[in-house]
Order: sequence, then C-alpha cells, then structure tokens
Amino acid sequence: MSYISFSMSCILIVSGLGVLLGPNRHPYGRYSTKGYGFFVPVKLAWVVQESPAFFIPLALRLMKGIAWISSDCVLLLFMLHYFQRSFVYPVLITAGKPSPLSVVISAFTFCAFNGYLQARYLLNEVSYEDPRLTSLSYLCGFVIFILGMAINLHSDHVLRSLRKNDSEGGYKIPYGGLFQFVSAANYFGEIVEWWGYALAMSGLPGCAFAFFTTCMLTKRGLDHHQFYLEKIPNYPRDRKAVIPFIL
Ligand code: NDP
Repeated sequence: MSYISFSMSCILIVSGLGVLLGPNRHPYGRYSTKGYGFFVPVKLAWVVQESPAFFIPLALRLMKGIAWISSDCVLLLFMLHYFQRSFVYPVLITAGKPSPLSVVISAFTFCAFNGYLQARYLLNEVSYEDPRLTSLSYLCGFVIFILGMAINLHSDHVLRSLRKNDSEGGYKIPYGGLFQFVSAANYFGEIVEWWGYALAMSGLPGCAFAFFTTCMLTKRGLDHHQFYLEKIPNYPRDRKAVIPFIL
C-alpha cells in the first residue's frame, strides 16, 4: 500500500475517534440550530455533499479504460451506495430539515476525500489474484453489504412514512423491521453495509472507512436514542440505540 493511502486511512480512523468521543451533536436534521451559517434546502444538500463519492471514483475508473479489472466488483459496491445516496435518497425525502452550509461543506470534503482514497487504492494499489467474484471474502462481504443496504433502505423508508400526514416536521416512534430492536435502525444497516464492503475489499482503506462510519453513526444513534427518551414519554424502554441487544 502506498504511503498516501496509508496516511489517508489513518486520518479517517483518527477523525472517526474524534467524532465518537467529541462532545457535540452533529448539527443537521433535528440538531440543526442557527449559528452554523446559511441553510441549504435538504434535497440539494444531499446531492451536493454526497455526489463527489460517486463522481470521483467514476472519473478515476474511466481513466483506466473500459476493460474489466478485478477490483471493479468492489468499487461497484461503493459507487452503487453513493449513486443511491446522491441521486435517489434526495428525491424520496418528503419533509427533512434544511442543512447548514458548514455541514454541507464538511460532508462534501469528506466524500471527496474518501471517494478518492477508496478509488485510488482499488484502481492503482491492489490487484486481486483471484477473479474476486469467486473469492470467499468477496462473496461473504457482498452478502453482508447487500443485507446492510436492505436494512438501511427499509429503515429510511419507515422514517419517511412517519411524516406522510404531518407537514410540521414532528418526530414519532418508528416501528417495523429493525426498529423493533434499535432506535437508529437506518444507521445500523449502514454500519453493516460498510463492514461488508471492508470484507469484500480486504484492505486498510475499506476498514478505515467502515470504522469512521461506525464511530459517526454510533454517536448520532446514541444522540437520537437519548432524544426519543427525553421527548417521547411512551417511547419503548427496551429498545437499544444502534446495535440490537448490545448498545
Ligand atoms: P436521520 O435518522 O436523522 O433522519 C432521516 C430522515 O428521517 C430525515 O428526513 C428526518 O427528518 C426523518 N426522521 C428521522 N427520525 C424521524 C422520526 N422519529 N419521525 C419522523 N421523521 C423522522 O438520518 P440522517 O439524516 O442522519 O441520515 C440519513 C441517511 O444517511 C441514513 O441512511 C444514514 O445511514 C446516512 N448517513 C451516513 C453517514 C456515514 O457516515 N456513512 C453519515 C450520516 C448519514 P429531520 O431532517 O427533520 O430530522
């Protein structure tokens, strides 16, 4: 692995720890307050901040030519996720809160940084000797990735449906799917997804990104759990925050 990819992976790991252990709630959605600058409409915010993680790998991949290479199947998982997050998820949002510009800029920077790291490593620094699609680590990682993505998509759908007849942006108790066990089922799905990707890749950049996501979404999931317990009197007390039966 190159010095650059190693250093960038270390930055992700240290940043993840900083987010997990830091005192502040991430200031968008329900925690968004004045004082973080100009507000960006929520659909536009998601497209702008997430799409670098799709376009940068796409551009780097096209520069390699069109012939199939062994790392394509791993890169495709990453790009599939970010295509969904950048261009499908924003269209489906029904009533999300606008995001502060500072949050959009930091998410954009993160997605550009991480999109470059993952694509650079997969396209230039690794050559799988097996055809990948038949390797055990890839097959297990692929199944875990798809399972995590299905949980994430279903949970985001459950959250959207809570506001079908409520244009005021209030918060209700989510039920169904993994919400029976945790307050942040969408985050649990995304965490599972990226550990599946890390296994499919079997390299440090994938693990560093999965670790960062785990830190970021565990922190935010714990905050959401606390929020529900404080604001909703009949909130189910037996639910965990992020990881079923554990946390
Ligand atoms: P949230 O769960 O905070 O919100 C998702 C949407 O559902 C928002 O529109 C929110 O509205 C609404 N919502 C949430 N809870 C309720 C409720 N109880 N009642 C009614 N509406 C509700 O998720 P995020 O916005 O943080 O994340 C969205 C997606 O992005 C997730 O799939 C997540 O996994 C992913 N993500 C990934 C990250 C990573 O590091 N890989 C980082 C952050 C997000 P409102 O905006 O008004 O709160």
